[in-house]
Amino acid sequence: MPLGYTFALIKPSACRKNHVGPILAMINQAGFRISAIRSTKLTKQEAETFYEMHRGKEFYDSLCEFMSSGPIIALLLEKDNAIEDFRKLIGNTNPDMAEEGTIRKMFAESLQKNAVHGSDSVENMKREADFFFNQRERY
Ligand code: UDP
Ligand code: MG
Repeated sequence: MPLGYTFALIKPSACRKNHVGPILAMINQAGFRISAIRSTKLTKQEAETFYEMHRGKEFYDSLCEFMSSGPIIALLLEKDNAIEDFRKLIGNTNPDMAEEGTIRKMFAESLQKNAVHGSDSVENMKREADFFFNQRERY
């Protein structure tokens, strides 16, 4: 997969509050093309595998409980410099520290319920994209 992709999730809290449309609009307006998209729901075990790198941290169990608490939207997004640009678009992990106009500033409810996930490296993007999408679902 070329480097111009990132993987994203709209988290259960943002889906519950019907923020999916506005968040997708911001993503498109920022120049990202949607390569793959699906509404799905993780089991607790699947959330634990997705967030494997955080296993052992104090927030891990609660995070996996939350991430499996309701439907999510999985996204593969294409743009030059996608990983870095998407992290800028969503803002700081902690919404209190996120810049005005970022997705997390606008839609996060808390540090845990911070509206969206975005890949932090090419390696993790590939792993995360493969976790959700087969090749026939990517255009
Ligand atoms: N998280 C949390 N408490 C923390 C740090 C992180 O609940 O102290 C949650 C939050 O939902 C975050 C996710 O765990 O988005 C993954 O953490 P990471 O440090 O990878 O932040 P991100 O890459 O999502 O900005
Ligand atoms: Mg992360």
